[in-house]
Amino acid sequence: MAEVLVYVDHVDGDVRKPTLELLTLARRIGDPVAVHLGPGAGNAAGVLAEHGAVRVLAADAQEFTDYLVVPKVDALQAAAEAVGPAAVLIPSSAEGKEIAARLALRLGSGLITDAVDLEAGEEGPVAHQSVFAAAFTTTSRVTQGTPVITVKPNSAAPEAAPAAGTVEELAVSFGPSATGTRVVSRSRRESTGRPDLTEAAIVVSGGRGVNGAENFALIEELADALGAAVGASRAAVDAGWYPHAHQVGQTGKTVSPQLYVAAGISGAIQHRAGMQTSKTIVAINKDSEAPIFELADYGLVGDLFDVVPALTEEVRAR
Ligand code: FAD
Repeated sequence: MAEVLVYVDHVDGDVRKPTLELLTLARRIGDPVAVHLGPGAGNAAGVLAEHGAVRVLAADAQEFTDYLVVPKVDALQAAAEAVGPAAVLIPSSAEGKEIAARLALRLGSGLITDAVDLEAGEEGPVAHQSVFAAAFTTTSRVTQGTPVITVKPNSAAPEAAPAAGTVEELAVSFGPSATGTRVVSRSRRESTGRPDLTEAAIVVSGGRGVNGAENFALIEELADALGAAVGASRAAVDAGWYPHAHQVGQTGKTVSPQLYVAAGISGAIQHRAGMQTSKTIVAINKDSEAPIFELADYGLVGDLFDVVPALTEEVRAR
């Protein structure tokens, strides 16, 4: 079976969930080979193997930490040339998309970004994208070179599929452009203790109906009772009530949790684009005609200032 390279998104060997999703999708196309760049391959190997990595190609060098994406592109190019994979899969983060674009150019390959599903095809992997605010789905495949495909987080549920996961050293030599952009400093965002929005199993989002930054405490309390991440509509973000990093939608994050709670959100198409693949959607809105109810599995017509605290209390009591 052909091998499929999967770029590992990690923090010091702590592998992020989108990579495990990619390993699951990669198994539809071939044997996943994880490419781990930077420190921590030893720590990462276990979870990569549990999710189907037949091999882990690892390279550690100061360049991966000290410079922006080009050293990683150099390493992925080396891996692609050594393996001759059926495809290279990369998480659709801002960094992932830049790496993918540069890699595709280097390999003379076609590129597909923001896929939401992948399958094997007779002439190579086939990718599905959700476009025009999720109004259409496109199906495409790369017709030139090794397909380089970025996949949106939450496109698949990570499945365990134990494999050997043997760690092998990847030999990398850096080109002249590798050290073109140096990282000056890094700062970690203060942790809220809540799960990452794009990876969370439950998301509670607030919109214009929340009516003020101070009232987002209600949304946070319900989120904390449920162990959820907090999201926001663009109206709430534009009003300065919640940070842009939490915006869900076409110009924000795409989430696909098991449970999505939308409070005081009307359900504009641009908001739906970021959450409509959630498994169960609960909408709380005082307007029974709000479009969000067309999408919701459970709709609560009422004032969120009554409903949300009541829900929080009920969840806490269980
Ligand atoms: P509104 O549409 O104003 O809805 C507020 C809702 O709250 C109403 O349905 C109202 O009935 C309800 N409500 C009010 N008070 C209460 C209460 N006390 N209790 C219960 N319900 C109450 N939007 C996004 O969200 N994400 C995006 O990424 C995004 N990208 C965009 C990109 C482009 C190019 C454009 C043009 C728009 C984009 N938008 C995006 C904006 C989008 O079109 C909507 O304007 C936005 O989603 C509306 O946010 P909202 O639902 O919070 O506000």
